[in-house]
Amino acid sequence: MSLLTRLLLALISLSPFLSPFTLTAADQETDSLEHGKHEHGAVTFNIALDGDTLSLELDAPAINVLGFERSPRNDAERKLVTDTHAWLAGGREMLAVPSNAGCRLQSANFSAPKLGTGHADYQPRYTFRCSNPAALAWVEIWALRKLKEVERAEVNLITPQVQRQQTLQGGELRVPLK
Ligand SMILES: [Zn+2]
Repeated sequence: MSLLTRLLLALISLSPFLSPFTLTAADQETDSLEHGKHEHGAVTFNIALDGDTLSLELDAPAINVLGFERSPRNDAERKLVTDTHAWLAGGREMLAVPSNAGCRLQSANFSAPKLGTGHADYQPRYTFRCSNPAALAWVEIWALRKLKEVERAEVNLITPQVQRQQTLQGGELRVPLK
C-alpha cells in the first residue's frame, strides 16, 4: 500500500460523514482506493503534500481518458491511444502550481491498461519536488482539460494543514491547498 493510500485511509477514518459500514468496507478492502470504483463520468484525484513533495494520483475510467474502452479500431484511434499514453507517461500538463513554488516533476508512474477486455482504468501517479512548498497556495488540475466527458471530479487532499474532500464541477480546475 502506498504512503498516499495510507494517508487517504486515515482521512476516511477521520471523516464524520461516513457511516460505520463504509469504515468497515474501507478497512477490509484496503486496495479500494488504489483500484477505485469504476463509474463512467467520475474521476478521482488524490493529492498529497508532504514536506517538499507533492504527489498526484489519478484514477479514471478509460472512457473518460480516451473516449472509449475497447481496442482502437482505426489509425486515428491508435494515434489517440499513443498520444494519450505519451502524455500520461510524461506527466506534462497534469498540474499547474504557483510558479514561485518551484515544483518540478520528479517521477511519473504509468502503465497502460489492457484495452479490449471489458472495463479499463487509468491510474497514473506523479511526484513533484518543490523548492518553495510554502508558496503552494493552490494547484490547478490541468489534466481535467484533456479528460473527456467528466461529470464529476473528486479530489482527496491531504497537506500538513488540510484534509479535505472536494468535488470539482463546471470546468473548475483550482484546488486550494490552504
Ligand atoms: Zn467502463
